[in-house]
Amino acid sequence: MAVSKTKPVAAISAAIAAGQRHFGENYVQEGVQKIQHFSDDQSLTWHFIGPIQSNKTRDIAEHFSWVHSIDRIKIAQRLQQQRPAQLPPLNVLIQVNIDDEDSKSGVTPAQVVELAAEISQLPRLKLRGLMAIPRPSQEPEQQALSLAAMQRLFLQLKAQYSDLDTLSMGMSDDLSVAIEHGSTMVRIGSAIFGPRVSNEPTRSTE
Ligand SMILES: *Cc1c(COP(=O)(O)O)cnc(C)c1O
Repeated sequence: MAVSKTKPVAAISAAIAAGQRHFGENYVQEGVQKIQHFSDDQSLTWHFIGPIQSNKTRDIAEHFSWVHSIDRIKIAQRLQQQRPAQLPPLNVLIQVNIDDEDSKSGVTPAQVVELAAEISQLPRLKLRGLMAIPRPSQEPEQQALSLAAMQRLFLQLKAQYSDLDTLSMGMSDDLSVAIEHGSTMVRIGSAIFGPRVSNEPTRSTE
């Protein structure tokens, strides 16, 4: 997935021309504008990957195909209620705060099973797997610890829900270690589009 947050539509057009089809956005308003801009292109899939405020769930439910950042049942229930009937179920991932960082959203590993059980009762959502943003590190050995923990958690959950197929982890700085640890979807921003000028990846406010 190409993470296009803060990048202009011209950059997205260039990525599409190069064959990219999956895009991730962190900010609801910006994401919806881009989805509307590219609405003629049915081959694109849009993923919401940022923190979710409850007053933004309707826009997410109406415009995105995937949400990677579910971390509480209240948000899942709102998305369930607000997903338009004519659209397929919304694909969702539970975000796990794998390194227990104050700055990051996500449930603890111990909370995953309960939230998965609750989400699996919601027919307008389709639970596809887990997502994580590990603590940034330049050391592959350090990166591997968090990524291996995510892989174990995913395999445990998959033993219970056999149709789970998505482990969303790996960014520009840890993508190869993430793939070694079973990532099925890497989220790449700066390595595709160049550095971002502002907006920390995980501390957005809208
Ligand atoms: C910004 C962001 C990315 C992409 O990060 P890069 O380091 O630029 O590749 C991936 N995932 C999430 C959730 C992000 O917010």
